[in-house]
Amino acid sequence: TRVVCLLRRPDGEPVPGDFAVEERPLPSLGEGQLLVRNLYMSVDPSMRGRLESTEKHYTHNFTPGSPLDGRALGVVEESRCASVPSGAYVRHQLGWRERAVLDAADTDGAGRIDPELAPLPTWLGLLGQTGFTAYVGLARIAALRPGDAVFVSAAAGAVGSAAGQFARLLGAERVVGTAGGADKCALLVKEFGYDAAADYRAEPVREALARMAPDGVDVYFDNVGGEQLAAALHALRTGGRVALCGMMSQFGGQRRSADTSQRSADINQLIQAVLKRLTLRGFIVRDHEDLRPEFEERVAGWLRSGRITARETVVDGLENAPGALLSLLDGGNIGKMLVRLGDS
Ligand code: NDP
Repeated sequence: TRVVCLLRRPDGEPVPGDFAVEERPLPSLGEGQLLVRNLYMSVDPSMRGRLESTEKHYTHNFTPGSPLDGRALGVVEESRCASVPSGAYVRHQLGWRERAVLDAADTDGAGRIDPELAPLPTWLGLLGQTGFTAYVGLARIAALRPGDAVFVSAAAGAVGSAAGQFARLLGAERVVGTAGGADKCALLVKEFGYDAAADYRAEPVREALARMAPDGVDVYFDNVGGEQLAAALHALRTGGRVALCGMMSQFGGQRRSADTSQRSADINQLIQAVLKRLTLRGFIVRDHEDLRPEFEERVAGWLRSGRITARETVVDGLENAPGALLSLLDGGNIGKMLVRLGDS
């Protein structure tokens, strides 16, 4: 089968030449295993850290000469597991390849993906790990309460566009966000229900927050870290909560913010957390599986009733998958970034 391999670790920012599409033999199917043809593959910022040798991100790092992996959704072509028939749609971790042989036990929600309930891409986006991350971050980590004012960064991305919409439906009174570029900001207000949006590349976020949320915010959903986290510390009200979800300002090498003062690098900003009795809590979504049934029921309901919008940026073809990752890091996506290998 065709797979995307890491050829060499990036020297600075990753480039297309760090990856190659290669042909690899598939293992034969053992008892309890499935042969899956991948249809959609998730493109995730966490893959950036996994290209390096040193820092460990979420899960194992990639190895030069070996295939990449990641979340994917596919159709079962052959099954040696009674409970997952051929033709079923499954989510699993062996993306970045056309076909995969995997243990049925390692599929996520086997037999539970119903293309009648929501289109296939949604199962990797709003109804997948992406939406779940937004939900866990708001509902549990930031303990969102009705009436709260909420700030979300990378707000036009996959997690951010879900978080803004969920926050509103969970009772937030004011939802503001930041994203790169005027077009994305317009979309935040028009499509994702944000009350106000600011382009972090055009205006220091601290000033933008003073304008968009003059009375401060109760919750900051942090996808970015750096300058935006520092700005949020100043905007948070006493007792405010921060869900530390990710740090795109460390991943997205080419994206530059308007604040060049280096204020963001100053750890002394954390005095704000002392003065205002803030709670800053990091999380990894997979530790919160107990919330999954509640999440799926609520979000499926919101989708059915048309109260939320699922947005994806879809790139076609396995050979374009590395480009999709580089584009994601450079803000080339609106909503969930996916690679499509087929539709059925
Ligand atoms: P996104 O769809 O949000 O894509 C990443 C976005 O980051 C880009 O579109 C770009 O948008 C923005 N970006 C890139 N560089 C910078 C920068 N220097 N400063 C500010 N923004 C930047 O990805 P996801 O929704 O998949 O992930 C969002 C965050 O959630 C990431 O930090 C990710 O690591 C984290 N995450 C955490 C999980 C957990 O368990 N804790 C699980 C899943 C994701 P723009 O045009 O606005 O710059």
